[in-house]
This record gives sequence, C-alpha cells and structure tokens, in this order.
Amino acid sequence: MKKVAILGSTGSIGTQTLDVIRHNDDLELVAISAGSNITLLEEQIREFHPELVAVWSKTKADELRIAISDVTPACKVVSGMEGLLEVATIASSDILVTAIVGMIGIQPTIAAIKAGKDIGLANKETLVTAGHIIMPLAKEYNVRILPVDSEHSAIFQCLNGENDNKISKILLTASGGPFRGMTKQDLELVTLEQALKHPNWAMGRKITIDSATMVNKGLEVIEAKWLFDVDPSQIEVVVQPQSIIHSMVEFEDGAVMAQLGTPDMRLPIQFALYYPNRVYLDGKRLDFSMLSEITFEKPDMDTFLGLRFAFDALKVGGSMPTVFNAANELAVAKFLNKRVRFMEIYDMIEFCMQRHDLIENPTVEQILDTEQWVYETIESRWIS
Ligand code: NDP
Repeated sequence: MKKVAILGSTGSIGTQTLDVIRHNDDLELVAISAGSNITLLEEQIREFHPELVAVWSKTKADELRIAISDVTPACKVVSGMEGLLEVATIASSDILVTAIVGMIGIQPTIAAIKAGKDIGLANKETLVTAGHIIMPLAKEYNVRILPVDSEHSAIFQCLNGENDNKISKILLTASGGPFRGMTKQDLELVTLEQALKHPNWAMGRKITIDSATMVNKGLEVIEAKWLFDVDPSQIEVVVQPQSIIHSMVEFEDGAVMAQLGTPDMRLPIQFALYYPNRVYLDGKRLDFSMLSEITFEKPDMDTFLGLRFAFDALKVGGSMPTVFNAANELAVAKFLNKRVRFMEIYDMIEFCMQRHDLIENPTVEQILDTEQWVYETIESRWIS
C-alpha cells in the first residue's frame, strides 16, 4: 500500500490525483490541503477519510471542523503555513504530491524532503525559484523528485533505462496556447475569457494564463534545467500544436526518444505515484489511423515574451528566476481580476527584472524577500 499526501487536493492536478487513487486499491490518501474550498474538501474527506486536512484560511478551517464533526474516524483540521507543513511531513505518507499553485509550495516541499518523503512534483514555481536548494537537498535525503508536469514526465519516461547515457538536447514541446500565430498588436486586444480557453488542456486558471503568455513554457524550461541537470543551451522549445508529443530527448548519437499520448494529466500523475512501474489507466488511446498530422513550429519569442524572459532569467541565474516567477504570479492574479491587460503581464515581469539587484545563491529567506520586493515594486508602479 502506498500512502499519499496532497497539497492542493481541490485543484486540477489535486482532483485528478484523487481520481487515480480512487481507481487503485493499493493507493491510500492520508492527508490533503486546500486554500479555501472547504465544500470540496468536505466531499473529499467523506469519500477518502484522510487523517489530516489543512486549510490555508483559519476561518474556513474552523467552519470545516464543524462541518465534518460527524465523520468517523475523525479527521484533524489544521490551518496556515503550519498546517501545510504538517500535511507535507505527516508520518504515515510515502509520497507528497505538490499540486499547490505558486511559490507558497517552497517551504512545505523542503520540509517533506527533510522528512524523507518522495515528491510528485507538479508545483513548478517551487523548482523554478528554489531548484538550487531542492535538488541537492533531495540528493542528501535520498528522496526522489518525480515530475508530474506532462512535459517533464515525458522526458523522465524517455530517460527511463538510459542510465548514464548523456543527453545532448531536451526538446520541450509546447502547444503554443490559444493565441498562437497572433501578433503583438493582436495580443493588445485579447480578453481574459479568450486567454482562459486553452486549445488542448483543461487546467487551473493560473497555469492556463501562463500557457497563453508562454510564461508556462518558460517556467518549464527552468524546471527542466533543475530536474535533468542540463545547461540552458541544451533546452529547445518546439511548438507542436496538437499536444500529441509531450516532449523528446536527443542523445549524443542523434537518436531522439519521444513520449506520445492523449492529453490526460492522470498518466504523468499515475506514473509518478507508481514509478518505476506502469499500471492500467482507463481513458482514450492515441488512434494513429485517425491522426491526420503532427506539425512543428519555432516558438515566436519576439511576440510571446514569457519564453524569452525565462531564458534570460535562467542565464542570469541566482534570484532572477524568482523575480521572473513572482512578478508573473502577481501579474496573473491582477489579470484574472481584470485589473490589468494581457500585455501588462509582460510589462510587469520586465519592469522587475530590469530593476533587480541580483543575489547569486539565494537562501529560502532571500527568495521570499525577493518575492516581497517584487510585489512592492509592482504595487508601487501599477497603482490600481
Ligand atoms: P489549481 O488552481 O487548479 O489548484 C491549486 C490548488 O492549490 C487548489 O487546491 C487550491 O486550493 C490550492 N491553493 C491555492 N492557494 C493556496 C494556499 N494559499 N494554501 C493552500 N492551498 C492553496 O492549479 P493546478 O492544479 O492547475 O496547478 C497546480 C500546480 O501544478 C501549479 O504549479 C501548476 O503550474 C502545476 N501544473 C498544473 C497542470 C495542470 O494540468 N493543471 C499541469 C502541469 C503542472 P483552493 O481550491 O481552495 O483555492
């Protein structure tokens, strides 16, 4: 029996992780957490009976405690960062799935590694900002960082059995998002509703906007650097609009390995939970007799600046990826609240990256201070 804890059980990745658990008797849920969606948390508690649940909001945690007072065996309800840390380190778990969104995942992920938990990593913002801390720590504590992001899972699957064979290049595929082919002028006019319509994947709101700006692909480039220990020059983004090839690896002899499949996040989630084994997963299969084409394009980094900024941040290193990520997190939150236009997301990232005094090898505290500096910098410039 593998025991699973989830940070962010009410979100897109969280609910799909629960679906995998629901269909497999040898997986057991022991702890979950969410920001404020206690209605769904209550349903999850009644179905899966975890020992522990964390709610970010203290008021909501109090409400949930009352709502589940009839549940047996009783489920402990905790709140705030301490609550997230408790879920991340709960003694009974074997693996923590980090399905929480944003840099808030850094401290729980570090705590889980120190408690010896394997990590099923979806929360890319943590690796982007603190990869230089997370990866050596995972090595020190002998825990596995198992990628859940579909592209990184694809690369991970392509590397399976390759032992020490050297990677020549990582070919990270991108759908191009809903605005592929548009010009900067077109992007000036796009709306929130249009940005939330991803052509191939149903995901949480933040990552859907990140896909439209191609910041998501930028975050994935940085994530790939840390997960697979490659130089930025070895990472190439290939637009593959049908989202059939989830990513590829080119080896030294020129051989290219690819992982293909229908767009279903349960596959990478399940692979992380069962690694190195594969188990049955229901759902659609690729039907090659129906596939009319798989096409490739170069990404337009002059229009979709999210990708360009990410490569810049990665080359500079240190605290710059934190600036890139934190500025994007706040900018996207503002865009989701219709407080700024789509193109202002790029303006905010660029504004902060140009003004930042680099910290070469930031500690967790310095990463969080940098996040704070970014927020203050944006708030003082974009008064809204
Ligand atoms: P969602 O927005 O759907 O879900 C986010 C989850 O985090 C929710 O459970 C939410 O709780 C919880 N959360 C948010 N803020 C807090 C907080 N302050 N304290 C505790 N919990 C909090 O996001 P996704 O599932 O789409 O994405 C999650 C992560 O996975 C992101 O890093 C994303 O980039 C990555 N990812 C997602 C993919 C996808 O297909 N969705 C693919 C690959 C990676 P509540 O519901 O209460 O707000």
